[in-house]
Formats: sequence, C-alpha cells, structure tokens
Amino acid sequence: MPDQISNKISSKISIIVPCYNEQESIPYFYKEICNIFKQMPDVVLETIFVDDGSKDHTLEIIKEISDRDNRFKYISFSRNFGKEAALYAGLSESTGDFIGVMDVDLQDPPGLIKDMYIALKTGEYDCVATRRVDRKNEPPIRSFFARIFYKLINKISNTNIVDGARDFRLMTRQMVDAILSVSEYNRFSKGIFSWVGFKTKWIEFENQDRIAGKTKWSFWKLFLYSIDGIVAFSTVPLAISSIFGILFCLISFILILFIIIKTLVFGDPVSGWPSTACIIFLVGGLQLFCTGILGQYLSKTYLETKKRPIYIIKSKSK
Ligand code: UDP
Ligand code: MG
Repeated sequence: MPDQISNKISSKISIIVPCYNEQESIPYFYKEICNIFKQMPDVVLETIFVDDGSKDHTLEIIKEISDRDNRFKYISFSRNFGKEAALYAGLSESTGDFIGVMDVDLQDPPGLIKDMYIALKTGEYDCVATRRVDRKNEPPIRSFFARIFYKLINKISNTNIVDGARDFRLMTRQMVDAILSVSEYNRFSKGIFSWVGFKTKWIEFENQDRIAGKTKWSFWKLFLYSIDGIVAFSTVPLAISSIFGILFCLISFILILFIIIKTLVFGDPVSGWPSTACIIFLVGGLQLFCTGILGQYLSKTYLETKKRPIYIIKSKSK
C-alpha cells in the first residue's frame, strides 16, 4: 500500500481541525495553511473544521471560509462533545490518502506538515507524530502532574503513551481506518494512536504559544482526562483492592495471634479504643477507595453498553 501511494503523481491530504470557541484563531490558521499548501503543488488539500458546539462565531467563520474556498469543509455538532469526539468525526469524514490532525490555535506548527508528508511518501512509516521537547510557559504544577501521569500510565499499561506527544500528526489511510475501527465511546486518542500499532516517526519541536484565544483545559479537566486515560488503557488499579485485601488479611491474622497471646498472659484490661477507632477509619477509607476504583470501571462499562453515538452532527458543508 505505501508503494502504491508513493507512485501516485498527486496525493490528497485531509487535515482535521477541531474547533471550540476559536473565532480569533481561525483566520490566522486559514492563512497559514494556505501558505503551506502553496508550497506543496503536488498535493490536493482537504481541510475539515469540526465545530464542537461553539458558542461564539466559530461556525459562521468556518462556513464563510468553506463557501469561498472549496478545499475547506466543515462539520458542526449539535452541542459540545469534546475534542476526542471532534477528532473521530473528522477522521470519519476524511477522504484523503494521508490524514493529519492539528489544533487550530497554531500551537502545532503547520510548516511541519511538509516534513511529515515527505517522510510518509518514502513508504517507510505509517505515521509521523510530534512531541514537545519542553513545557515552556506551562504552569509548573501542571508539568509536575503531567510527568507523574506519564510515568504512572506507562508503568501500569501495555500501551506506550509518549510523554509530551501532541495529537498533531499525519497518518496513512490504512492507519486511520484502524483508528476508526476502534469505536469506543470513552476515547483517549493518545492511547488509541499507540494501541493500533503501525510504524511511527517522531518529530520534536519546542512548545508554541497560542496565537489567540484561551486554552479549553483547566487543571481539573486535565485531571479527569488523565483518569479516563488510565481507566481506558489499564486494569491494574482493579488489582489494587485485591492487594490491599491480602495485605490486610495478613496483618489482621498476625494481630489476632498477638491479642490472643497477650490476653492469655496479661488478662484483658479494657483499653485501646483509640487505636481501634483508627483502624476502623483506615480500613473504612481503604474500602471506599477500592469501591471508588471499581465504580470508575463500572461507570465506563455502563456508558459503553449504552452504545450512544460518539457525536451528533447538526450541519455540514456540501
Ligand atoms: N477543542 C475542541 N473541543 C473541546 C475543547 C477543545 O474541539 O471541548 C479543540 C480546540 O478548539 C483546539 C484543540 O481542541 O483546536 C486543543 O484545545 P486547546 O488548545 O484548548 O488545548 P491545549 O493546546 O491547551 O492542550
Ligand atoms: Mg492548544
């Protein structure tokens, strides 16, 4: 398949761009993409803006662009379904031989698309992905927790999730079809990109600031997203309750022996209720913690079994 593509005279590249309240960034993005593709005359461009239920003028702007430039299409959701759903929708609608994913805020340098395309054309790779080498201008506390998250998930999951990896990448049609076949409702794309396999080349770049607008990710949202990632790609937390259970059985067995012997030797004075209360708190807390972990997996399973659509389209370009 890669050989077939590399022998073609012109290739079609689809670029998927999720947009949520991005009215300020879109005009800059449009200009940049047009510039880049001017330098790639052998490529047919298809850009798909996915309006993820924006509340500002995002939809009007992408409609207007798509009316005057037929290389730009759009899909608009009936409400905000989240970036993961927007990516899935864009990939489903794409028709290119190579499919790219990038943010609209120009934090993903569009100039790299050319390098990615050249690397894919050799047929040696199925995907060219990007990694930030630094976390410049990010709050230190966020970087700290991000590092812990990547260390943890890579220890407890068989899927390798690269620290600093962006969603910004260019993939072959074959790889995108594989990603689309993973149609789970709780989507953690960073994991899915890695889970489907294929050969990936990594390009590194320095963190860029947003061209306009604000990030949509608060610390709390990122925290919940990281829990989603762990639940989606590891079942190790489920084993935690069993480990605690075994440990506590062992401790209580030793304690029971100790108490029996102590009572036989020294009698049974009524004392020690504070330590008893502490133990009840500890065990109670641990039980709730473990039930909470079970609850996380159960809630995800519950949502998957409902088989709700990942997104709902309200309107799209012709
Ligand atoms: N985005 C989206 N839906 C959301 C949140 C974000 O489509 O619910 C889009 C957003 O418009 C942007 C991309 O996802 O193009 C990345 O979001 P953002 O730049 O806020 O994330 P960051 O780069 O700060 O991680
Ligand atoms: Mg961004």
